[in-house]
Amino acid sequence: MLNINGVSLLNNRKCNIQIMDGYIQSVTERSFRKGEVISVPEGVYVSPGWIDLHTHAYPCLEPYCSHPDKIGYKTGVTTVIDAGTCGADNIEHLYAVAKGSKTRVFSFLNIAQTGLKVSDELVDLTNISWEKIKYSFQAYPELLVGLKVRMSKSVVGENGLEPLKLARKYGDLLQKPLMVHIGSAPPKITDILDLLEKGDVITHCFHAKEGNTIFNHQQKIHPSVYHALRRGVYLDVGHGTSSFSFQIAKQAKNHQLPFHSISTDIYEKNRLNGPVYDMATTLNKFLALGYSLVDVIKKVTEIPAAILHKPEFGTLDKGTVADLTFFTVEKEQLVLEDAYGETVTTVNQIKPYAVMLGGEYIVCS
Ligand code: ZN
Ligand code: ZN
Repeated sequence: MLNINGVSLLNNRKCNIQIMDGYIQSVTERSFRKGEVISVPEGVYVSPGWIDLHTHAYPCLEPYCSHPDKIGYKTGVTTVIDAGTCGADNIEHLYAVAKGSKTRVFSFLNIAQTGLKVSDELVDLTNISWEKIKYSFQAYPELLVGLKVRMSKSVVGENGLEPLKLARKYGDLLQKPLMVHIGSAPPKITDILDLLEKGDVITHCFHAKEGNTIFNHQQKIHPSVYHALRRGVYLDVGHGTSSFSFQIAKQAKNHQLPFHSISTDIYEKNRLNGPVYDMATTLNKFLALGYSLVDVIKKVTEIPAAILHKPEFGTLDKGTVADLTFFTVEKEQLVLEDAYGETVTTVNQIKPYAVMLGGEYIVCS
């Protein structure tokens, strides 16, 4: 039995967490001295392990590449989802990378077999092979959580909504959700939203690319967004190098638009040079926008776990996997930049302190 004493829950109550064989046994206010004991410094919070729903965790395809551990456990993230860096051609290698990583890795398979080896992967529809997609899901069921399809002008060329219609058909056959990238039109965001169903995910929900955002010309949220939300479609942030705008996110907050998950769309370039850097920086941006700590942490734990249909993650309930993130919230001013050069200032900074991965405790470097 492993005991972690003196950590704070998000309600500021101190607790002890007991872990057995890599699973949470109990979370109580008593402290235990039996078995192995880990004590954390005063003021360290604990949450379920952070899940980053949109990353590029395949180190071999430039520029959209990074290593799962660099963007994962070393930065407080216990699970990364590779969002379509790989298609059927590379999935075998991503599986090997995942096996060799400490950080948990899942993947939305790019419907184009090339993955992001090219940046216009859906201009040529012969790049989409149902046979290869089906084979990939049969071969790597524990890795693959859904299909990724990038629906913006430079990716689909003249093909309009066709790639999304194919993805929807294959998603239905596989009974897996889609993660859909949105950006410049065509296709129009409203046409994309209308094709999505319960469990599908829109990523880059707060992008500001010309005329194709969640807002219409009257600065109102498109009715299709609300219709999609009512059907059970999820909205994911997917910050990235060019897909997150404070202005759009602020407007969305003023309209009380519910969104679901905070993800980074991180890869080497935006990790090293910004504006992403890491998950904590992305979370700090939402604190700066006025979201509560509880809300922000939910969007990187409980909600992405639900989107992934993985109830064994995302909570501190008895019997869930002992993936935990330990962090502090420090009163320190910091200027944060979005993808368009706009800044906000936060006075609260989340800083990862350590993670636990299936019971293994690692202090973040
Ligand atoms: Zn994207
Ligand atoms: Zn991406």
